[in-house]
Amino acid sequence: MSDIIRLLPDSVANQIAAGEVIQRPASVIKELVENAVDAGGTQITIVIKDAGRTLIQVIDNGSGMSETDARMAFERHATSKITDASDLFSLHTMGFRGEALASIAAIAQIDLRSMRHGDSMGTRIIINGSVVESQQPEACVAGTNIMVKNLFYNVPARRKFLKKDSVELSQIMREFERLALVNCDREFTLVHNDVTLHSLRPAPMLRRIADLFGKNLDRQLIPVESDTSIVRIEGYVGLPEHARKRNPLQYLTVNGRNMRHPPFHKAILSCYERLLPPDQQPNYFLNFTVEPDTIDVNIHPTKHEIKFENEQAIWQILAAAVRESLGRFNAGPAIDFDREDVPDIPAFAPDATASHNIDTEPGYNPFRVEHSRSGAPNDWMKLYDNFNSRRADALSSAIDITADDNYSEADSHALQGELDLDLSPATPSVMQLKNRYILSPSRDGLMVVDQHRAHKRVLYEDYLRSATQGNLASQRLIFPEVLRLSPAQNAIMETLASEATHLGFDLTPTGDNTWSINASPAALADLNPRDMMLMMVEDATESGCMPGDNLRERIAIAMAENASVKPGQALSRDEMDRITGELMKLASPGYTPDGQRTFIILSLEEITRMLG
Ligand code: ADP
Ligand code: MG
Repeated sequence: MSDIIRLLPDSVANQIAAGEVIQRPASVIKELVENAVDAGGTQITIVIKDAGRTLIQVIDNGSGMSETDARMAFERHATSKITDASDLFSLHTMGFRGEALASIAAIAQIDLRSMRHGDSMGTRIIINGSVVESQQPEACVAGTNIMVKNLFYNVPARRKFLKKDSVELSQIMREFERLALVNCDREFTLVHNDVTLHSLRPAPMLRRIADLFGKNLDRQLIPVESDTSIVRIEGYVGLPEHARKRNPLQYLTVNGRNMRHPPFHKAILSCYERLLPPDQQPNYFLNFTVEPDTIDVNIHPTKHEIKFENEQAIWQILAAAVRESLGRFNAGPAIDFDREDVPDIPAFAPDATASHNIDTEPGYNPFRVEHSRSGAPNDWMKLYDNFNSRRADALSSAIDITADDNYSEADSHALQGELDLDLSPATPSVMQLKNRYILSPSRDGLMVVDQHRAHKRVLYEDYLRSATQGNLASQRLIFPEVLRLSPAQNAIMETLASEATHLGFDLTPTGDNTWSINASPAALADLNPRDMMLMMVEDATESGCMPGDNLRERIAIAMAENASVKPGQALSRDEMDRITGELMKLASPGYTPDGQRTFIILSLEEITRMLG
């Protein structure tokens, strides 16, 4: 009987390997960008067509390859990055397996141009499904320019398996974000179907985060830093009030490599345990630096899973570092005042119709309108007492923090400690606690006002009124923003435009589902007007209802969120008086427009009871 075992031809072996390394267009982008980074590229451009189905092109200004290397690069296990097994334990590059290019070439059509710095001629190589069709000298710029066309063209089953473009594109965006985050010092451009989705300059991490995820995000993060002999941890974690129910931004990297690490993820979440409702998760961006020989990255072909030698110790260091940051920025410990049985605060009819002006200058300063508001700073005490006598004891008797199981003696000490530190003795009737709460004696106890939420409520009413009257201040953009929409979105936009004008936008249709945003509401400040318009279009699309009051509320909330004082901001006595005073004038001061409590009262009884 003849022998039956045969070695697979390379092309088949490569296709099988590709199944592991290349699951989808996003994996191609990861491998090619990592190669560009390993080659020392500082400007990396990614061009894709049809969510990567038709074309994935990565251009770098890195080292480039010689003619021979360019050909060798597509051989299986061909790598310039390690030479023997011991190198596996001191990796300084992203790649090391030497199988990415071979795998990609097995399942796509490759057109690569590369030239080393200093060479006068480069090389161009064309490969279809592992078969080298041609290689010839070609004049090109230093660096590498690789095109991967028609992914999975020769593996119909895999090609069919690709999800619809929007899904693949969002995977690509996620991968791009990860790559751009671990390489903040490099320039990245991402172009999809001729539209530039990202254009990122080299920047410090916080700036890169803002460039990637929106200008507001950097203000919602606090730094984390810890330097020990076994690990250096640095990065940012989100303030609890900006935690998310959906799609939290959570990034862990080690030595410049993205990783999934469920135990470390848990360590971070554990620090938020009492600060967040169970259905919300914080954003975080944390980098670990360890000696390369204390981790093993050789576990999984996509190299996301990483084993740490000192996992337990690092777990502890991580948890301590995050907890310390949260404590330092006064994000905790939290006492859960939000009990469900607290009744809504009954309406209080404002006695005066205050005139509300919105400053028309850019960089609207909510405190500058002092003269236009009715009432001297301390009037609010009267207002509050007035308001308070109407709602009688309903509120104070309902807030019973001693009954809260979560409230421990330790917390009481912590709170005590904070009071010792932060109460300013110079302001007898209003005090700021940890730059976050405004404390003041009220007739029946201690009023604790959340400065950010209270101010947000006050500004919201202002904006809403101005929007309704159509006199929200508008600010011309130096560079008009271009808003590109789908035909469906464009149809909605046409109905939205007049309402948006009411709010201070100046919009002109420029044809082809594109709009130019020439001016935006002044109070948007540094919120991106294009993002804001897109949000409104998407809102209207989703709800299926026509814009109107709903839209006004949405934008008023966004502007108030943006313009209000933030937790952590030191306030003067006047500013505290003003916020509290304006709040108490409102018909329903108890909650922010999105339903968070603005203040609580600790009654004397409760205080007495707590003191035992
Ligand atoms: P690995 O990155 O694991 O070494 P790859 O298959 O991704 O394996 O790449 C093979 C080799 O091709 C690399 O080791 C490197 O020498 C070379 N190479 C790939 N991409 C580039 C690039 N953009 N610039 C310079 N050299 C590259
Ligand atoms: Mg590689």
